This record gives sequence, C-alpha cells and structure tokens, in this order.
Amino acid sequence: MAVVGIDFGSLHSLIGVARHRGIDIITNEVSNRTTPSLVGFGPKQRSIGESAKTQETSNFKNTIGSLKRLIGRTLSDPEIQEIEKKFTNVNLVDVNGTVGVEVTYLGEKQRFSATQLVAMYFGKLRDIASAELKIGVQDVVIAVPGWYTDIQRRAVLDAAYIAGLTTLRLINDTTAVALGYGITKSDLPEPDATPRHVAFVDIGHSSLSVSIVAFSKGQLSVKATAYDRNLGGRDIDFALVRHFAEEFKTKYKIDVLSNPKAVFRLITGCEKLKKILSANAEAPLNVENIMVDVDASSQLSREQFEGLIGDILDRITGPLHAALADSGLTAEQLDAVELIGGTTRIPAVRTRIASVFNKTLSTTLNQDEAIARGATFCCAQLSPVFRVRDFSIHDISPYPIKVHWEVQPGDGEEDSELLVFPKGNSIPSTKVLTFYRKDTFDIEAAYAEPSLLPGGINPWISKFTAKQVPADPNGDLTTVKVKTRLNLHGIVSFEAAYTEEVEEREEPAPMDVDSASGEPPAPPKKKRVVKKKEVPFITSSSSLDKATLELLKEQENQMYAADKLVMDTEERKNALEEYVYDMRSKLDDRFAVFVQASEKEKLLAGLQEAEDWLYSDEGEDATKSAYVERLDALKVIGDPIAFRYKETDERTKAVAQLRETL
Ligand code: ATP
Ligand code: MG
Repeated sequence: MAVVGIDFGSLHSLIGVARHRGIDIITNEVSNRTTPSLVGFGPKQRSIGESAKTQETSNFKNTIGSLKRLIGRTLSDPEIQEIEKKFTNVNLVDVNGTVGVEVTYLGEKQRFSATQLVAMYFGKLRDIASAELKIGVQDVVIAVPGWYTDIQRRAVLDAAYIAGLTTLRLINDTTAVALGYGITKSDLPEPDATPRHVAFVDIGHSSLSVSIVAFSKGQLSVKATAYDRNLGGRDIDFALVRHFAEEFKTKYKIDVLSNPKAVFRLITGCEKLKKILSANAEAPLNVENIMVDVDASSQLSREQFEGLIGDILDRITGPLHAALADSGLTAEQLDAVELIGGTTRIPAVRTRIASVFNKTLSTTLNQDEAIARGATFCCAQLSPVFRVRDFSIHDISPYPIKVHWEVQPGDGEEDSELLVFPKGNSIPSTKVLTFYRKDTFDIEAAYAEPSLLPGGINPWISKFTAKQVPADPNGDLTTVKVKTRLNLHGIVSFEAAYTEEVEEREEPAPMDVDSASGEPPAPPKKKRVVKKKEVPFITSSSSLDKATLELLKEQENQMYAADKLVMDTEERKNALEEYVYDMRSKLDDRFAVFVQASEKEKLLAGLQEAEDWLYSDEGEDATKSAYVERLDALKVIGDPIAFRYKETDERTKAVAQLRETL
C-alpha cells in the first residue's frame, strides 16, 4: 500500500511518498518536483499538470488554474467575482450552485464544477505517485489552508473520492509543516518542561498563513493561527503588471490591460523579474510580442519594486501580530521563526516578518517541500504500512461553530443555540448535546461568526433530523443525546443520537460454599446499567450525495479512459512511424545479408504504403486499432528478417565469448 502526502498549492503541488528509509518528494513525468495546478481542455483530450502548462499560452481560455481557490465557492461569491476573476481567463459559470467553468472540450462547450476540476487534477497527482511507486495509490493525506471552511473541506474530500482516493486526513498546511518539524527533532523539551515555541509563516502564491506551535517530546499543540487569504505572490505579480501596463501606455502606445493574452504574457515576465529581484538589486523585463507585434522591455530596481508593492508588504504584519497576541506569548518567548512558501524568498517580505518577531528567521526547513513532507508523515502515521514514531497533533479550529434549533414550546428551554466548538477548539473533538423532546426534531450546525469566513461562504454547515423519538415511559420528555464531532478533517458532523435508560439490575448473589461459617449471606448487590438506544436520524451537509458522487466518478473514469485511448493511439501511431524509418534503414544496413531480394521489395513496398497512409488525412487521425493492424501486417514480413539477423548475431557473440574463455 502506498503512503502519499499532497501539498495542494494554488500555483503548483508537491507529492511526498513514504519509504522505509524516509520521505521522498517525487518528480513528475518531466522530472519536476512540483506539478502545475492546472487543468486544460483540448479538441481531443484533457491535459493536466505539466502538459496543461505547456499549452497554457495557446489554449489559455480552456486552461484553468486557481483550483484550490475555486473549490467550495459559489459563482456569486464576492471573492470569486472581485478577486479570482482577475487571475483567470476561463469563463466562470454556475454548476449546480457552485462555481465551475465553461470550456470547449472535444469540440463542444462543456461545464465542469470546481470539484470535478480538482478531481481531475488529483487523478493526475495519483498517477504521478503510482508511476513512481509502481503500485496503485489510494490512501492520501491532503494539505489545505487552515482557513478552509467546512464546505471547502467537504468539496476537497468529494474531489478526492471522485479521483478514487481515500483521504485519511485533510491536514492544515502549517500543521503539516509543524509535524514534519517536530517528528524529526530528538531534542524537544520533556512534557513537564516549557515547550519549544515556533512560529511558522507560509506565504505562497495566493495566501498567507501563520501558526504558532508548542512542541514537547512526542507532541505538538497549535496555540494560535492567523491568515490573510488574499496575500501572496500573485498579488505582487499583479502590482507589477499594473506598473508596467501604465509604462507601456506611453512607451509603446499599447493598453496591455485591455488584452487578456497580453496580461498573461506580462504576468509571466513579471514573475520572472520578481524572482531575479530576490537575489539582485536590479532586473530586466522582456516580453516578446506582448501584443500587436510589440516586444516590450523595461527594468526595475529592488527599491522601485519595494515601493510598488508597499501596500502588500504593509499587510504582512497584521496577521503575525494577531497570531502572537492570540497565542498569549511574547516575541521573546518564541524559540524560532520558520519560513515556508515561495514568497518568503523576497528580502522585503523577510524584513517585515522579522520586524514582528524581532528575531533572525530560520530556514532550516525546505521551504518548498515542508508541507508535502509533513502531509506524508501524517499519512504514514495513519496508514498501517509503516510504524512511525508516536507524535500527536493537537490542532485547532479557526472559526467558532454553533448548533441551533427551534425552541419547543413547553420544553423549558430558553436558548435556541449553543456554541459547541469555540474558536481555537481542538481538532478532532466530540461533544454530546442533550435535548428534551417528544417529537422528531432538527438541529443545525453553522459557523457562529459569518463575518470571519472567506467572502460569501455560507455559514450553514449541516442539519440533523431525528426521525423518531421514543416515548418516555412516564409520559415526560425524552432525553435525547446527540453526538457531534469536529473531525480529523476539520469538518463538523453529527455522528450518533441515542437515549439512555438506566436500569438497576441485581447482581447474581455469590454462592455460599462455606456454609459452616454460619454468617448470614450478604444482600444481593445492585448494579446501574446504562442502556443506550439508538435514535434514527438523517443528516445533510454540503457534501455531494452518494448518487451524485458515483455519477461524477463514472464520468471522470470515462474521460480518463478517453484520454488514455488518445495517448495510446498517439503512441501506436509513433510506433508505426518509427518502424517504417527504422526498418528502411536496417534493410540497407545490418539486415542486408539476411534478406532476399523479393522479400526486401515486398517489405519496402509495405513500408512505403504505410508511410503514404500515415501522412494521408485518414492515417493522420485514425483509430488505435488501425495503427496496430498496419504495424502487425508489416511485422509479418519484417520479423523473420529480424529473427535471422538476431540468431546469427547471437551465435557470433557466443562463439566470440567461447574463444575468449578458451
Ligand atoms: P499557496 O500556498 O498560496 O496556495 P503555492 O503553495 O502554490 O501557493 P508556493 O510554491 O509556496 O505557492 O510559492 C509560489 C510563489 O512564490 C509564486 O508567486 C512565486 O512567484 C513565488 N516565488 C518563488 N520563488 C521566488 C523568489 N525567488 N522570489 C520571489 N518570489 C518567489
Ligand atoms: Mg502553499
């Protein structure tokens, strides 16, 4: 069984696998350790990851990034309309109440929800991992931002399910990092000593997370977290785009911002320039054919750069101060500040972080790979394949969660809601709620402070309906207990409902075997037995229902099979083409003495015919079996020749070897 951890990034993702000697971050089909978080749709097939990136410029209306930003959101969400739209060229549409895309796929306009897109992408990551491990991949741990809400988490779980994966845990990004940090340290304080406190700051392509964690031997506890969901490298790139667009208005008389393709090209140029500025005082910008045949160029100094992104830099310190205040610690009490995420490579970003913690920043972790590594450790802990050092994770939830219900007349209740999991509640955690009811009843879980949630996220989480409440024998209200859980994934569920009946049972009396003692037998003991009786209930949440999930899984499998057929067909076509050229050259070369003239003539004619066909309209775009049949037909003539050659060749080699040994 494979043990896999995924850092699902907005720009790219990383995959870790566990092996006996430790955790490896694996490479994809083009040997990169990161895989672009992109899905593209073409006239014949989908392209996902690297192949989507290759075609992004030519197919950019049908290439979708920002997958993790879209999943779990609605089209009307202000953050989708005002922020995400800016970073995508795809037509965003509504798909069954969630945001999705309309693309041209297989020559037709088709719509896919963000959940489906993420499923497609996870399928690609799964294939990369199984190609590396040479076994099927099922169990995974996926790292997601700590600010993800219930609906986003459920959508990621649904996407993983559609991709045939079992998510052992959705782990928060910075918690994964903390796990990877803690589990490999052998010098953590004893449980009764002051823990080691570390702040982890992750600034990636689209968001900022900070987490303050206490480490002791064998465990980590997240003390506080804070976020800026909309502060990352892409915002910096966009600030540069605006600057250069302005400059090019006068310099080249072009309006870059009016042309999406030009914006796309400029973003690519600005990202490059930004990275150079992390190590140099000045950097050039060159964008060939930005629009209307203009090759644009410019340059920027680090000082100008910092001026342009000043307002973004200014926003960094807020969440860091908030997390520190929430943790109840002072900056002096922190033992280390660890940086992760690509954007923390910018010197001015580091200066801002350092100014809050008043400390030298550490980069002992691999800032690009720490999340995937931690997620993989987590998967290894949860999967039975490896025995991993015990290390417990105490994570917390960033949003308060309540349940509410309708007050029933006559049941003596005044409140209609209860804060069940306050902000900072540990994950996982179970609470048993008590209700006094006669009839069926509903309760609902919801986020208690909607204003804390991202954009237009619906605070509603889930609904519980007791189908039938058993009557109380005395005609009173029945006491129903409902078990609600903030589970390992950070989602809220209703897990059980039951009534309790207390029975007093007489213990069987001890048999008096020694009646000679003459003492009267002890009175029989009574024992209180709590009998739980299940109360039937149903729940609903934002998770897709079973039937929909199966349907989407089936659709995904069909698209996957179609892609595979296209790839196999291409491969067979190449094989036929290669055979034609290879055979032709060998016939004049090493096969020459093993072939009769008539045979050669026949084969050459066959090769010519195959070549002509390959370049005809029909052969250009034929079925897999058509290529296979043609190749097989040629091999009927060609194989005996190759066989004769091989036999003689082997004999000659064997004789040579024999001579050597003699
Ligand atoms: P997120 O965590 O926000 O979903 P991600 O995990 O995909 O995003 P990272 O890989 O952490 O993102 O970081 C990518 C960002 O870091 C990009 O915006 C990239 O341009 C930026 N980046 C990478 N290297 C450098 C560098 N040397 N200097 C400046 N920025 C850099
Ligand atoms: Mg990241």
